[in-house]
Amino acid sequence: MLRILFVLLVVSSSAPALASISSADLTAHLGPACASETSFALVRRGMVDVRDLAPEVLVRLKYAVAENFMGEAVYGAGRACWLRREAAEKLALAQQELTRRRPGWRLLLGDCLRPRAVQRRMWSLVAGTPMQRYVARPDPGSMHNHGAAVDISIADESGAALDMGTPFDHFGPLAQPRHEARFLAEGRLTREQVENRKLLREVMIAAGWRGLRIEWWHFEAFPVREIRARFPIVEHWPEAAPGAPCMAAAGR
Ligand SMILES: [Zn+2]
Repeated sequence: MLRILFVLLVVSSSAPALASISSADLTAHLGPACASETSFALVRRGMVDVRDLAPEVLVRLKYAVAENFMGEAVYGAGRACWLRREAAEKLALAQQELTRRRPGWRLLLGDCLRPRAVQRRMWSLVAGTPMQRYVARPDPGSMHNHGAAVDISIADESGAALDMGTPFDHFGPLAQPRHEARFLAEGRLTREQVENRKLLREVMIAAGWRGLRIEWWHFEAFPVREIRARFPIVEHWPEAAPGAPCMAAAGR
């Protein structure tokens, strides 16, 4: 099952600092009315800003800036990494495991909760093209739509992303863990790249996450059936009231 995006442009460690914010930062960027409205609405739905549980993690959301395959920023006021509390707790465990093994290194989040409205936008861009196999259909939806999946990498002490052999959203075979041994033997992946991916898998799996055989960056907090049964889909980022000052600040 494919529940993912495809490659074109990539937002990596060079993403603007605006995308790397917590709910506290959101208040500073957007003003207290807008930030609290968005945050409270998400919290009411059982979501947690992961940096409230794991302040060490880095958040550089791919779709909060325009340099992604859609060519537009689609996350508005929802630019923190929001996850179901149970998933956020597992992410904090993964960061603890990474810190134990590599003190100073930090998990790097590229995508977390992704409302289904964004999924529909993505699907509309690829439907009917060869790329559609790489994007989850909005119905029944991606595990990101439930707030129970992450696209994730690792950053070193300096904040630089480790070399994983491909960037996020590269959908060629080189991104697929199932082919790593062959690509290593052929010299298309280096030993360091494979070891970096292995470290990411090990810390995530140790914390209870599940990976995919076709994307090194995507992990899900629970089995798909359980996620669908327990966690309702979030359709949209919570909207601010019409005319609220944060509407302009959020770029809507
Ligand atoms: Zn994903």
